Amino acid sequence: MQTSGKINLPKGKRVAVNIGVDFDGPSVWMGMYNQESPAYMARGEFGAEVAAPRVLKLLDKYNIKTSWCIPGHTVDTFPEITKSVVDHGHEIVHHGYAHENITPLTYEEEEKIMTMGLESLANLGVKPRGYRSPAWNYSPNTLSILEKYGFEYDSSLMGNDLYPYRPRPVEVHHDKANVFGPDSQLLEIPVSWLLDDFPTQEFAPGMADGLQSVSGVYDRWKAIFDYACDHEEGACFVLTTHPQTIGRGHMIVELEKLIQYMDSRGAWFATLAEIHDNFEQDK
Ligand SMILES: [Zn+2]
Repeated sequence: MQTSGKINLPKGKRVAVNIGVDFDGPSVWMGMYNQESPAYMARGEFGAEVAAPRVLKLLDKYNIKTSWCIPGHTVDTFPEITKSVVDHGHEIVHHGYAHENITPLTYEEEEKIMTMGLESLANLGVKPRGYRSPAWNYSPNTLSILEKYGFEYDSSLMGNDLYPYRPRPVEVHHDKANVFGPDSQLLEIPVSWLLDDFPTQEFAPGMADGLQSVSGVYDRWKAIFDYACDHEEGACFVLTTHPQTIGRGHMIVELEKLIQYMDSRGAWFATLAEIHDNFEQDK
């Protein structure tokens, strides 16, 4: 059985909330969509130069410290703005180098990306405690590479929706049951495409169908948060935003509305590292 547990919340709080910021910049277009034209690079530039400061300002307004998952490529391309994220007191999470899909890579190729990302973050003065896979996918080697490099938590998998758990290696069979390996010591703080701004809001002709209703997104996020409040105890709500997406005017007002609503219902706004540190494993 999966080993999971609750978050030990501060008194009076109902749900741990992480407003994750995946600061992909141009690399999301390079790594996920194979695009590197000046036009797609400009979309990443918007995210870094215009939208990231807007997101920082909103988080400051509510005194929220959160987790920014930053590829090494963003750190190296936009050193001033990534430095400013650190200076604002946010946690920095390893997020690959150029937003690679690591699934088809060899162990050596994947390890090389791990060390390149670590080096860029070290130039910022950061040693990350957590990792988020850029494509929200794993290779068979990812878990052991994360353990080798001493990560305390990962936030890329979907084996639970509202509670952290211990991820396990899985041996896949098509002619009999899959076989799970032992629990990792690493904690998985799960994500969900349903709690991500990018899929429904970013449009790229023939590649991404993101011209969908903003109120629909708000309603879904609120419904998931309400369920965690009303039906679960010590749950965590892990939102994934991207500056180039959430930082647009019509989106950032929705995020602000959601922050106010969650705050009114007892959200504990926390970094992923704080969620890790307050995890209480079920006996
Ligand atoms: Zn990303």
